[in-house]
Amino acid sequence: MPTPLQPPAERALARPRRRRLAAVAALGALLAVGAAALLGLRPPAPLRADAPVEAFSAERAYTHLETIAAQTHVAGSPAAERARRHIEEALRKLGLTPETQDTVGGEAGQLSGGAGGATLARVRNVVARLPGTAPTGRIFLVAHYDSVQVGPGGNDDAAGTSAILEVARALTAGPRPRNDIVFVLTDAEEACLCGAAAFAADHPLAADGGVVLNLEARGSSGPVIMFETSRRNAGLVDVFGRAAPHPVGTSFAVEIYRLLPNDTDFTAFLDNGFTGLNSAYIDGAALYHTPLDTPAAVHRGSLQQHGDNTLALAREFGAVDLAGLPAGGDATYFPVPGGLVRYPGWLTWPLTVLALLAVAALGWLSRRRGYLSWPRLGAGLGLVLVPLLVAPAGAYLLWAAVTTIRPGYATLLDPYRPLWYRLAVLALAAAVLFGWYALTRRRTGPAALAVAGLGWLAVLGVPLALLAPGGAYLTTLPALAGAVAGLTALAVRAESPVAVVAVTAGAAVGVLLLLPTVVLLFPALGMAMGAVAALVAVLLGLAALPVLDLLHPAAGGQRGMAALRARRAAAVPALAAALGTVICAGVGLAVDRFDAAHPVPTHLMYALDADTGTARWLSAETDPQPWTDRYVDGPARVGGQFPLLGGEPLRAGPAQPAALPPPRLDLLTDTGPAGPRTLRVRLLPQRPVRLATLGVDPATATVRGATVAGRPVEVGAGTDFSVVFHAPPPEGIEIELRVEPVGGGAVRLRATDGSDGLTGLPGFRPRPPGVGVVGAHDSELVLVTRTYTL
Ligand SMILES: [Zn+2]
Repeated sequence: MPTPLQPPAERALARPRRRRLAAVAALGALLAVGAAALLGLRPPAPLRADAPVEAFSAERAYTHLETIAAQTHVAGSPAAERARRHIEEALRKLGLTPETQDTVGGEAGQLSGGAGGATLARVRNVVARLPGTAPTGRIFLVAHYDSVQVGPGGNDDAAGTSAILEVARALTAGPRPRNDIVFVLTDAEEACLCGAAAFAADHPLAADGGVVLNLEARGSSGPVIMFETSRRNAGLVDVFGRAAPHPVGTSFAVEIYRLLPNDTDFTAFLDNGFTGLNSAYIDGAALYHTPLDTPAAVHRGSLQQHGDNTLALAREFGAVDLAGLPAGGDATYFPVPGGLVRYPGWLTWPLTVLALLAVAALGWLSRRRGYLSWPRLGAGLGLVLVPLLVAPAGAYLLWAAVTTIRPGYATLLDPYRPLWYRLAVLALAAAVLFGWYALTRRRTGPAALAVAGLGWLAVLGVPLALLAPGGAYLTTLPALAGAVAGLTALAVRAESPVAVVAVTAGAAVGVLLLLPTVVLLFPALGMAMGAVAALVAVLLGLAALPVLDLLHPAAGGQRGMAALRARRAAAVPALAAALGTVICAGVGLAVDRFDAAHPVPTHLMYALDADTGTARWLSAETDPQPWTDRYVDGPARVGGQFPLLGGEPLRAGPAQPAALPPPRLDLLTDTGPAGPRTLRVRLLPQRPVRLATLGVDPATATVRGATVAGRPVEVGAGTDFSVVFHAPPPEGIEIELRVEPVGGGAVRLRATDGSDGLTGLPGFRPRPPGVGVVGAHDSELVLVTRTYTL
């Protein structure tokens, strides 16, 4: 008589040899599915310069990339001007007539800061149009050509820019598309998305909107992920799925991205009513925004994928009737080997309910057949929470331990060589799952645990469907597949191998959907949030529980020594995985040491107060590196003096005052000393700077209105008001302020400007090899401030 807790697959395999064979076959099948899923994420091989003219060649794009990212080219710098001229020249050579939109742009989404400030920039966008034969609308291929202030931006975003130049070449070499294709290489993305905002809001070609394909990079390698779309994306995603040759994208990424504090040029286009797709590669994030983001650091396969996809999408969007693109709702989509699965978002709830019903049916039938009891299923549902909580907590503690040993990781988005740490997190999740299973399986029974695991997957679909519908497929579909597989296994003859095939197929769905998710989550969130990947890894394990169960000796029946041996055997996978965790973390620490090519990041700024003639070193490092420690000691508050630095906690130390002239503030006109005043001033930096700011001391006046460089800016409800202007022109910035002086007295204004690079400052010693620069927008910033009373 079979023991009451054996599922059919297990009864079919009552003989140990058959069971071992089934375990090998089923696990082999899952490994093959997993390998295929991961291979599908690999970027293509780069094409050489002698590739056919109609094809995209990473090597051809790379020649542009080397020129554009030859040096740091932050917005407004001479190097940025050289990059701009190269882009114009390259487009002109294709027979296009590029023009430069030279204007002032405000920050995306607003011409003001909600907190009482406005951010603007003088921008120079390069724009060229390939006219369509019978246009139904416009396609915009967008990348930003400016870099950050401390690095040449080889990946971010010279890669996107040069990919567009090579796409433009391929498009002009072929038959003319039906729709207009507009190439937009924007300026000042790093500063404030101001170039894209100026184009989207003001350029005549942007007046009717259209479809934007934005190309970005937040790292140096890995698959290009289509991670953001406009709302109601079903039609766009359908084109992406059928046209892009390497369509890596998931509706879950859209949901994740909305939670992250990142923005790209795409935001500026969305704010102005455009539709479109946003793509980036994101692995190798240790280089992001640092001096190490050089042309040599660009992974040619990722560049090839960017170009392949963009060229194919430009051709397809260039050919369809854009007016007829179904707006529909949002689609659910995810990559599988060989393509992109997509279905309408309205199916999310029906599938969620179906998964719940299927798992409930499986539980009910399993009980009727005597494989589980209600109390055991209840216990299983409670016990499944243990790995779901313990694995993420363990991943968190693991990374806390690693950063204690190597504090330099704290300021890195991801380590330089994260592979072993990622494997450590996966081994940890496996150790927790295997250990938990070995401890609970005998008492609760494999059927109760398997049904409970599927139950949690199905239940988690509900909050996902509510809060992040694009991610609901991650738990709903594996639960549904697992439940259908279980019902199939219960329906066939107990001895039939169909039962094993069915549960393996059910688990394969979980592997197919969740393994790429785990692999993409690591670079997306970084090791500090490895807990999320651990959680998804446990979900994958729960979906595959019936297959993992084959690793265990048949349940029940054994007594005495046999039972003891069985329990010992069950502990082996968990112990092996635990050992794997320690080994992987140890190898990670050994492999990923800081050295000259992989320097420990440090953050340092310099601030000179021209009113008092005093200077300070400032750092955003909370636990300063030894190099930084020589410059800063205690925490400091500088928000009052340097509103630009905002409320971030900083450390400060005394510095020698440098001979740097403060920005000049010239009063042009003034409506009078008393009552409401209108002050027209010119803010004029006296040295080459990246940005200049002007703030009004709220103790002396309330700002009622402001115009900057001829543009009215909104004044927030708060009393603080300041303007940040990036890439100020040589003639300075004209600012008109309508103020109500407090008590009718004089108005105090603070003028500040900022340049980049600490070399040459008194007391500064260049970094030794092995010490690098944090990839932040205020790294190496040199601020000079002065107050003026008018
Ligand atoms: Zn960037």
